[in-house]
Amino acid sequence: MDNGWNIVVCVKQVPDADDVSIDPDTGRLNRSDAEAVLNSPDYNAIEAALSLREAGGGTVTALTMGPPTAGEVLQVAVGMGADDGVLLTDRAFGGSDTWPTSLALARAAEELDADVVLGGEETTDSSTGQVPPGIAAHNGWAQLTYVEELEARPEEDRLVARRDVEGGYERVAAELPVVVAMGFGENTPRTADLHRKIYAETEFEPTEWDASDLGVEDEVGMAASPTQVGGMATADPVPREQSMVDSADELAEKIGEVR
Ligand SMILES: Cc1cc2nc3c(=O)[nH]c(=O)nc-3n(C[C@H](O)[C@H](O)[C@H](O)COP(=O)(O)OP(=O)(O)OC[C@H]3O[C@@H](n4cnc5c(N)ncnc54)[C@H](O)[C@@H]3O)c2cc1C
Repeated sequence: MDNGWNIVVCVKQVPDADDVSIDPDTGRLNRSDAEAVLNSPDYNAIEAALSLREAGGGTVTALTMGPPTAGEVLQVAVGMGADDGVLLTDRAFGGSDTWPTSLALARAAEELDADVVLGGEETTDSSTGQVPPGIAAHNGWAQLTYVEELEARPEEDRLVARRDVEGGYERVAAELPVVVAMGFGENTPRTADLHRKIYAETEFEPTEWDASDLGVEDEVGMAASPTQVGGMATADPVPREQSMVDSADELAEKIGEVR
């Protein structure tokens, strides 16, 4: 690639996990009081995308699907250094499970002529970890999951990953285009540069696409979602025995007693 890779990073807006509760009567998440924030693992995906651009050139485009307010997470990505952002928003997307969500993101990645698509390991609100593999499946692209480290090899059109596997790690080389699910906490996300952050919040306007722009209007939404939610129940907190200690020595003694 003469001009570097087209790198797309998928970011999702989620309710702040500290503010979310479950309505005990309906079993549904109470999201309304929670602040909407960028999914924490996606900071690692953005950092990996920006590092890849530093290694091999190219552009980083942040991509999100959600309501119009989801554009706020694109501002975070642009503030950190992404070149541009695309918001997929349409009432037709409402009720989509991971399959149509992955489809819309996959079509957008194709539209952006992506060489590398990055996502987080999972979200803090649904936590399926299915979306990056779903994008790869819809487009028939290679996938690298549970990634700890990436090495760009632009001269070979390949991306090499160190992947977490049970009991150790493996190194895998993938041909482009490739979808990467970056492991949570595997790098240190940079803080936004002040001037870039001001640009992101005052001047930046994302490109907006709806379902018909992507040609998926009949393949998204509740009707196109194979997941069936059978029910949800809340568990009462288990009462735990508590006692106060006056010193570290006394604490050590008590821990010794229960071992
Ligand atoms: C029947 C059903 C109906 C649903 N209806 C709705 C609804 O009406 N509204 C709603 O908000 N949710 C709805 N959901 C939840 C929605 O399907 C998931 O939030 C979505 O598919 C992403 O799955 P996840 O959060 O598990 O992502 P994961 O697979 O855990 O996410 C991994 C990574 O994929 C990327 N990613 C995930 N989602 C997005 C996204 N939207 N945009 C960009 N990148 C993304 C991120 O990089 C993320 O770190 C519904 C789910 C079901 C089962």
